[in-house]
Amino acid sequence: MTGIYAENSEGVFKKAVLEAASYASQISGGNVTAVCVGMPKDGEAEKLAKYGVNKLIVVEGLNAFDALNYGRAVAANLQNVKNLIIANTYEGKAIAPRIAVLQAASLATNVVELPNTTNGFSIKRGVFSGKGFAHVQLSRENKVIAITPNSIELKENPVSINIEKTTVSSPENLTQITGINKAAGKIPLTEAEVVVSAGRGMKGPENWGMVEELAQILGGATACSKPVSDMDWRPHSEHVGQTGITIKPNLYIAIGISGAIQHLAGVSSSKVIVVINKDPEAPFFKAADYGIVGDAFEVLPQLIAAAKAAKN
Ligand SMILES: Cc1cc2nc3c(=O)[nH]c(=O)nc-3n(C[C@H](O)[C@H](O)[C@H](O)COP(=O)(O)OP(=O)(O)OC[C@H]3O[C@@H](n4cnc5c(N)ncnc54)[C@H](O)[C@@H]3O)c2cc1C
Repeated sequence: MTGIYAENSEGVFKKAVLEAASYASQISGGNVTAVCVGMPKDGEAEKLAKYGVNKLIVVEGLNAFDALNYGRAVAANLQNVKNLIIANTYEGKAIAPRIAVLQAASLATNVVELPNTTNGFSIKRGVFSGKGFAHVQLSRENKVIAITPNSIELKENPVSINIEKTTVSSPENLTQITGINKAAGKIPLTEAEVVVSAGRGMKGPENWGMVEELAQILGGATACSKPVSDMDWRPHSEHVGQTGITIKPNLYIAIGISGAIQHLAGVSSSKVIVVINKDPEAPFFKAADYGIVGDAFEVLPQLIAAAKAAKN
């Protein structure tokens, strides 16, 4: 049997969870059980069913995300599951190793493809901050597989879904949330298909209007380099790279970012990379599919006008 952890945000499943469902249903041929914490909103369970999940176990009694309590709840409710698929998000990364320990399972994170089962169970995973790939054999009968968002193609496999409820009584209170800062109304960076990102070359936070406008026209999210968020020009939730978020959009537009190795670590798996930099020697051009050597303050207005015209 195959299972997934169905992470949700206020009762809504993320796209990465649907990818986990699709992965699980493709390797099992159906019969996928999902576990989520808290009752999903109306219509959400059906989204899972569209990708092959035929049973959803809703765990109640847990509040704020806590890796140990959540990991225990998932492991306890998916004891008979041999392959457990998890989205490699913050939550997923935190609970996957805990579940692997609880179930004495092989663990693979950053997984980017369906397994090759012609000889054992071989998976392909990103290593060295996305600079390379490793093919790894998972030898234990139980496996925990955390898949990188935007790596697995969604394939529909509609089934009907049963919902069961279970309650965790007296969980340990290990984490106390003292406040939540929400990036309201935005596409989550890890789910965005287009990301418009900018660095110190933008000179100051007052110039981000152009970056936001381009992102909005292209239906994408905004991101930034580490110094930009360190200087409070942009929120830390937008910081991508080795010490920030790892993303894999279809299109990554980097404006006034030098392309340091620590930045590339978080974005180099993007399908198409466009670099705008006034320095023709900027290292980012080596990783670019398309490059524009020019001043961002001249290039961006033209790009925005062209994107608007194309959209119209
Ligand atoms: C342990 C460690 C972890 C790190 N983790 C991260 C990380 O996760 N993410 C990250 O981003 N960085 C990270 N860094 C920092 C990283 O090494 C770089 O210092 C950082 O990425 C540089 O940011 P930047 O490109 O915005 O700024 P800069 O290096 O200052 O580059 C600015 C670029 O803008 C260009 N430019 C200037 N003016 C214009 C203009 N008008 N038009 C067009 N282009 C212009 C310049 O030519 C230059 O290439 C880390 C560093 C360390 C040591």
